[in-house]
Amino acid sequence: MTPVKTFKGKAVALFGLGGSGLSTAKALMAGGAEVYAWDDGEAGRLAAVNAGVPLEDLSRSDWSRFAALILSPGVPLTHPAPHWTVEHARAAGVEIIGDIELFCRERAAHTGRSPFIAITGTNGKSTTTALIAHILREAGREVQLGGNIGVPVLDLEPPADDRIHVVECSSFQIDLAPSLGPTIGILINLTPDHIDRHGSMEHYAAVKERLVAGAEVALIGVDDAHTHAIGARLAAEPKPEQRVVPVSAARRLDWGFYVEDGEIYFREQGHPPEEAELLGSVKGARALRGAHNAQNAAFAAAAAWECGLDDEEIARGLLSYPGLPHRMEEVGRIERALFVNDSKATNADAAEKALASFTDIYWIIGGKAKEGGIEPLRSYFPRIRKAYLIGHASDDFARTLEGALPYERCETLDVATTRAALDALDDDAAEPIVLLSPACASYDQFKNFEARGDAFRALVNVLPAVIAARRGEHP
Ligand code: ADP
Repeated sequence: MTPVKTFKGKAVALFGLGGSGLSTAKALMAGGAEVYAWDDGEAGRLAAVNAGVPLEDLSRSDWSRFAALILSPGVPLTHPAPHWTVEHARAAGVEIIGDIELFCRERAAHTGRSPFIAITGTNGKSTTTALIAHILREAGREVQLGGNIGVPVLDLEPPADDRIHVVECSSFQIDLAPSLGPTIGILINLTPDHIDRHGSMEHYAAVKERLVAGAEVALIGVDDAHTHAIGARLAAEPKPEQRVVPVSAARRLDWGFYVEDGEIYFREQGHPPEEAELLGSVKGARALRGAHNAQNAAFAAAAAWECGLDDEEIARGLLSYPGLPHRMEEVGRIERALFVNDSKATNADAAEKALASFTDIYWIIGGKAKEGGIEPLRSYFPRIRKAYLIGHASDDFARTLEGALPYERCETLDVATTRAALDALDDDAAEPIVLLSPACASYDQFKNFEARGDAFRALVNVLPAVIAARRGEHP
């Protein structure tokens, strides 16, 4: 844990006791702050009581005594409307910040160097964050990995000279971190997302920009118009001591980090192309298939290079990266058939990444449909041998597939997995793929996408026995 000493002896209001809220409260208390916590939900309040965190109904508080309002990133700061605690804090002139800001202040109070890599973007944040941590660890560095990816940042060990904090930041967390100034800031890509919570694409992009604007080394994507514009703007007026470095997975750059034919290069400004340094390759990296992962890998290699790792260390880390659960995760192989869990693909955009990464696909789809369904995926249908429909979206998806692809209504994941496996095993392709990439939310049949992916993994584990029994019954 990182005790927050910057509020020692001061009263702070804290709202939001799910997720990172409790960990933030404990870190503040460990550093000597007086915490007054609240949540609209009973469960959060109960958890606080159990953890020994003092509660106060903040709707009745005298806000003039608070030094800050510590807000959970899930609570609206601006859109669709500021939360009532935000109104109270503003009226009393109390600053509103989050756990990443508290971490930044502890880091600023640490004398000496404390390497801090912050990662954001619309897509690929978790993969890039986990990959950076993996490459650095494999090279023998001490790494603390957290933030939006799972472990709250204040649960990590405190800033230290030889300890690299690798922290995924959501836009909500950035919005609550005014002094965010990482050693290396990464902005991977920007496409419209969470616009309901940010009001407009412009506001969303402006929030994301802040993570790289304050970085010593700003690694910024150039493959979409929004990040391209941000990179150009920062490069035109860099802060003193700041380096703004472009990263592309789509084309060779005159300088910066780029991917060409699966290989990641760094070319220094003003150096001829033949002096571009080869840092590593995603060819043969099983957990980094697909163009989207080449983009994530380019950023991870760039961050590792900026940390002083050499090309061999980077290349080794890319190859040995095990991947994250539920993102094109290989969960089993039976004969030539490979089983891939991509349960995190809760919309067509995400499923597209998996469909673009494989061929000879036996595709398990469905759940709670998102707007637009799977119509945008039509151009990938030639890669798919057959689709297996589950959940609420079945009627909708059947209409799209009718006449375009063979499909089967399976209702549930267990039936779909068995049917898809039997068909895949009869395929003479070199590597038929049974792919759960549902293009839907999971809530109609599962608690969340993790539960859906875990169920798929468990089903694949028992498949050999199921298949043997089937084959015995129907030789
Ligand atoms: P995030 O943490 O930003 O949600 P993840 O690394 O967890 O991103 O990946 C989630 C999904 O987003 C992946 O399963 C894939 O479908 C898609 N994705 C991952 N990286 C990228 C990328 N660089 N560009 C576009 N889509 C991506």
